[in-house]
Amino acid sequence: MHVVVIGAGLGGLAAAVAADRAGHTVTVLERAPTLRETGAGIGIMPNGVLALDALGLGEPVRAQAGPLDAGSGMRDRDGKPLLTADMAAVRNRVGAPLVVVRRSWLHSLLADALAPGTVLTGMPVTALRDAGDHVELRTGGGPVHADAVVVADGAHSRLRAALLPEHPGLAGSGEHAARAIAPAAPPGLPLPVGESVDHRTGDRFGCMPLADGGVYWYATWHGPSPADPAERHRWLRERRAGWHPAAVALIDATPADVVHVVETEQLVHPLATMAIRRVALLGDAAHAMTPDLGQGACQAFEDAVTLGAVLDGASAADVAAALRDYDALRRPRTSALQRECRRMHRLLGLTGWRGRLRDALLRRVPPALAVRSLAAQYRFTPEPARREASAR
Ligand SMILES: Cc1cc2nc3c(=O)[nH]c(=O)nc-3n(C[C@H](O)[C@H](O)[C@H](O)COP(=O)(O)OP(=O)(O)OC[C@H]3O[C@@H](n4cnc5c(N)ncnc54)[C@H](O)[C@@H]3O)c2cc1C
Repeated sequence: MHVVVIGAGLGGLAAAVAADRAGHTVTVLERAPTLRETGAGIGIMPNGVLALDALGLGEPVRAQAGPLDAGSGMRDRDGKPLLTADMAAVRNRVGAPLVVVRRSWLHSLLADALAPGTVLTGMPVTALRDAGDHVELRTGGGPVHADAVVVADGAHSRLRAALLPEHPGLAGSGEHAARAIAPAAPPGLPLPVGESVDHRTGDRFGCMPLADGGVYWYATWHGPSPADPAERHRWLRERRAGWHPAAVALIDATPADVVHVVETEQLVHPLATMAIRRVALLGDAAHAMTPDLGQGACQAFEDAVTLGAVLDGASAADVAAALRDYDALRRPRTSALQRECRRMHRLLGLTGWRGRLRDALLRRVPPALAVRSLAAQYRFTPEPARREASAR
């Protein structure tokens, strides 16, 4: 069976690996002229690591696990703990660590797991036509036929808009995020690992060490900022001036031109379905969410594992039923996380007395409760998903 994946981001590549492992012929069509991934670093939550395990890629990812275990969690802007999450305890409960890696490394890991020639670049897909027993794709390089199609063209998915025209699409959160990797931890300064929040402005700053000595950091803010990268770098530094000194030191250690800035976005509401006959939606195309839980790519990896499970042993005649199962298995989880992301985004953006109250409440969360609720969010069991898929 020929499975065509549209988009070679982290989600599309993971889907291609899963469909390949399920025994199908796979083609990935990517509109960009070359394969690349931007955005500095990424946190792979334990459920994402479990999903990558199921794709046969967990070992190199686990080998990148850095010293995140002690004292990570939420902090105030001075770096003092608000809520401490014992990530070693979470790892023991879930069976996987949280791993922070360079995005480019993760992207290459997935791309290299595919046979040469699987990914075709410079191939924008402009339309899909359901021809009953197959799907016809209109591309920059002529028509392509597929038995099953995976739409993984990202948050701004044009194909989602064409397939589900009644859905209102994306909305900006009003919050911007700058991300970068500093070459090393600032000497002589303790690293306030985790995320710091400022109840005066709703700004945040996060930092996490990488296994190779670099430090992934991000800063968020509401409202406008200078457009010029050098000016914005200075502005960002000044805006973090009253914070723990590692924030300014990390910004200082990072050249302005490697800082990647976006407005974070989310779907206005979850999709009514992630599958339309022979076409499945996956990753940000299916459930774009703000990065407040660090789950966007991890959910794409879970999607990919479930997709592989439902397509395992399927013939062209089974595709529509298999993708209905994919939708039934995935949508409750991804819809719940989109709602949770929204709640978290509101909570972390609180300012003034509401922000101070939030901080006071976070300080009272018992550490065991923090571990239990994170472990519940990070649970992912590929085997039952597979069994459930084959029982349907
Ligand atoms: C600030 C920030 C921090 C984040 N942090 C985390 C984190 O710590 N952990 C986590 O799990 N997630 C995180 N995320 C979310 C994560 O980055 C995304 O969920 C993930 O990258 C989405 O991957 P994707 O493959 O679905 O989409 P994309 O990466 O957008 O890939 C889509 C691909 O499709 C291609 N394409 C588009 N249209 C077409 C077309 N018509 N034809 C062919 N190709 C096409 C594009 O060129 C692109 O290559 C974060 C996001 C942001 C913004």
